Amino acid sequence: LAGQMMTQPLTITSIMQFADRVFPEVEVVSFTADNPRHRYTLKDAFKRARQLANALAAFGIQTGDRVATLAWNDYRHFELYYAVPCSGAVCHTINPRLFPEQLEYIINHADDKIIFTDPTFLPLLENLQHKLPTVQKIIVLSDAASMPQTTLQNIDNYEDFISNYVDKFDWPEIDENTASGLCYTSGTTGNPKGVLYSHRSCVLHSYAAALPDTMNLSSKDVILPIVPMFHVNAWSIPYCAAMVGAKIVFPGSKMGDGETLETLINSEQVTLSAGVPTVWLALLNYLRDSGKKVPSLNRVIVGGAACPLSIMEEFEREHNIYTHHSWGMTETSPLGVFNSPKAGMENLSQDELNKIRLKQGRPVFGVDLRIVADDGSEQPWDGESIGEVRVKGNWICKSYYKLEGSDSHDNKGYLRTGDVACIDQRGYMHITDRTKDVIKSGGEWISSIELENAAIGHPAIHETAVIGIPHPKWSERPLLIAVKAPDKNISATELIAYLEGKVAKWWIPEEVAFVDKLPHTATGKVSKKDLRIQFEKFTSS
Ligand code: ADP
Repeated sequence: LAGQMMTQPLTITSIMQFADRVFPEVEVVSFTADNPRHRYTLKDAFKRARQLANALAAFGIQTGDRVATLAWNDYRHFELYYAVPCSGAVCHTINPRLFPEQLEYIINHADDKIIFTDPTFLPLLENLQHKLPTVQKIIVLSDAASMPQTTLQNIDNYEDFISNYVDKFDWPEIDENTASGLCYTSGTTGNPKGVLYSHRSCVLHSYAAALPDTMNLSSKDVILPIVPMFHVNAWSIPYCAAMVGAKIVFPGSKMGDGETLETLINSEQVTLSAGVPTVWLALLNYLRDSGKKVPSLNRVIVGGAACPLSIMEEFEREHNIYTHHSWGMTETSPLGVFNSPKAGMENLSQDELNKIRLKQGRPVFGVDLRIVADDGSEQPWDGESIGEVRVKGNWICKSYYKLEGSDSHDNKGYLRTGDVACIDQRGYMHITDRTKDVIKSGGEWISSIELENAAIGHPAIHETAVIGIPHPKWSERPLLIAVKAPDKNISATELIAYLEGKVAKWWIPEEVAFVDKLPHTATGKVSKKDLRIQFEKFTSS
């Protein structure tokens, strides 16, 4: 018997039209290259999105065409986030931190027709201009007065590009499964792979992201997305904020600048922010040095890499801010698991709570998650049994763009995430490693992430990475590579002694290598691939 309810397509257009009607007054504040405090409302944003849609149509953008952005988090990028997919085209967000060869590869692989770029990235494009045959035009996200000098051909500024067009546009009726966005993984192994989001996946993901035990978003929130819009749709904040009518504050290019972040948080009364662990280190360092406080901020979301306890503790102790750990990847839109306490956990000791908070979190409804052992069997949720994380769901990638038929999924249709984890009885997942970073010593796994987290708790340590090095007896032993905090000193023996009692005794590395800095990937993570090459000749004693 068929249900007798309506079906409305789940489209980004429906979010836009809803927010335009219900939340027209809600502010969007941005830091941009041409204005340190641009301020307008959702109504203004969608009006300009309609002008932009007219400009794109006049330029010849058609359904399914790829429109690229090479941009920071700001209001013009926000307009592109709506105008492009709601016109039926695909918003291809490009990570400007990729190597030039990777940029060339993905722009050509995506067949981008037009690129909208922040002025900051013009030099990148100047170097590539003769290698991008599909790109017909470049639009700089600025007005005429702020256009930098450039050798690029077929170039215009955004304000002139849209200014001649009316702010009325008949948005097409779009099938909810139409592609809306394209984002490439940074390709720590091999070429970057494209994840092609759909309108439906973005809408369902936004619903899930806004739930109370997830980001708990409401119209009373003021959100500062520090996670870049060029990486997994800024965790869908540009869509779910509009869905609930929350004010958005975009930090532009100032994502790692503690002082600008503090100013934005205090002047705009930000309540919630989201980003990778390194940005929180920058903010906390600034607050510590300046003695400033951020009283409006009540929660931060940390994902993309494991969050050390030291960050959570400092936020809570010094600023009364709750830190939510979360896990996801480009392929999962990114929401996979999210860490909020469950009822009854208020009775646990601080120590027990800390152990749970360090885990990445529990699955959100809509994500079917399992841990699979090497032999393909599903592991129990006992907090100990380890295996690869495999996921299925409505916002999980089914196949990569123009790479269908790869071995990214198992025979039950689950995406192989390449992450190793266990899940406890309460459902909290704990990532111990990436499959390719796993350290196996004497037949047992050592979690590089846990060792890194323990070592970073020492005040003299700024950043850490643990890799496996060959050992004649144990086959592999962990090597702790550490960067000292500015003006701080610590010896290898002191650091090793500090780890005692914090991790299993046999995990404790015999060797520590101090370096001036660690190599990072385009998404800001420590590149263990490069470290393994750098320390290739290093053998454990
Ligand atoms: P890339 O793979 O291009 O670096 P992604 O954002 O897709 O970029 O990376 C996803 C990966 O980041 C996950 O597969 C996982 O290994 C890691 N990751 C994400 N969140 C966490 C977390 N909270 N703790 C540990 N690792 C995480």
